[in-house]
Amino acid sequence: MENSKRQAKPRLLLMGQRRSGKSSITSVVFHKMEPQETLFLESTTRVQKDTMNSFMDFQVWDFPGQLDYFDPTFDTTQMFSDIGALIWVVDAQDDYSDSLARLTTTIINLQNTFPHINVEVFVHKTDSLNEDYRSDIFQDIVQRVGDDLNDAGFINPNVSYHLTSIYDSSIFEALSSVIQKLIPELDVLQNLLNTLINNSGMTKAYLFDILSKIYVASDTRPVDSDIYEICANYIDLTVDFTDLYNYPRDNMKILGEQMEEVESSMTFEDGTMVYLKEMNKHLCLVTVIKNKEAKDKKGMIDYNVHIFQEALKAVFDRAWEKNQDADGGIAH
Ligand code: GDP
Repeated sequence: MENSKRQAKPRLLLMGQRRSGKSSITSVVFHKMEPQETLFLESTTRVQKDTMNSFMDFQVWDFPGQLDYFDPTFDTTQMFSDIGALIWVVDAQDDYSDSLARLTTTIINLQNTFPHINVEVFVHKTDSLNEDYRSDIFQDIVQRVGDDLNDAGFINPNVSYHLTSIYDSSIFEALSSVIQKLIPELDVLQNLLNTLINNSGMTKAYLFDILSKIYVASDTRPVDSDIYEICANYIDLTVDFTDLYNYPRDNMKILGEQMEEVESSMTFEDGTMVYLKEMNKHLCLVTVIKNKEAKDKKGMIDYNVHIFQEALKAVFDRAWEKNQDADGGIAH
């Protein structure tokens, strides 16, 4: 059962040219490496399948110089069939012509056999480019890929583009938007979060994958990078603190058991409260409440979050049953 549950996770495949930044992205997002430390990383040289304690599965493939994955002898079915999104990393600081040529060939090949795969292009390492140059490069990449695909007869292919860097929150926000497209229950989760924030006077609420700090859903108010960062940092703080005291994270029971989850809140001088509660083994709710009265209303907030947690459990139970019936993955 545990095995089939793992199958139901959204699965991502990260590809791109050597030195484009794939290992760095994985290390920073999933292994808490500081961005500066990636300077000393060994470049990806083979397929890496990361099995981690996360809401999603993540595989990294190097640009296969020596390996042609559309060669008839290569088992593309095994490689792509259960993938929800293909993330193509383009190094914006380098000559990207070869990378784009390879990308369009890949998209064209995929369209025929695996049209359900979302292709997500990360225009990466944009931190050191000034704003004008950054948007010129972005437009150039969108235009070139679009033109090549149109020439090949593909109108409106399933391709999205993101500006990313490991030196700021853009990589987390891009991965959040990639993962959200793979969650069929996203609308339901957003509605639940909207109800929660409206009933509790919250400013913004995120449902985070604890390990990666990618958010699986948020309420539908506009995303504010400052609030995102407060929430993401608060997860780090809480995880470090609970790790310090050997909190038995791996043995934790899933949802519904009283007082099994970490819960924590902090109030700043101006009355703003940050509130975190673990929802299950992989996910936690983090919310910011910019209201002087938040502290006095903590009892009501606790209660509403508990109701939210129950509703979330029901949503995931239903999705799990549906997956069992369809014998498919959450990613499809
Ligand atoms: P891979 O071969 O695709 O796995 O590439 P690596 O992850 O080994 O990255 C190659 C180099 O790019 C390393 O020196 C990283 O420090 C650097 N790098 C990765 N991401 C970024 C980024 O967002 N900004 C900048 N400036 N450098 C990056």
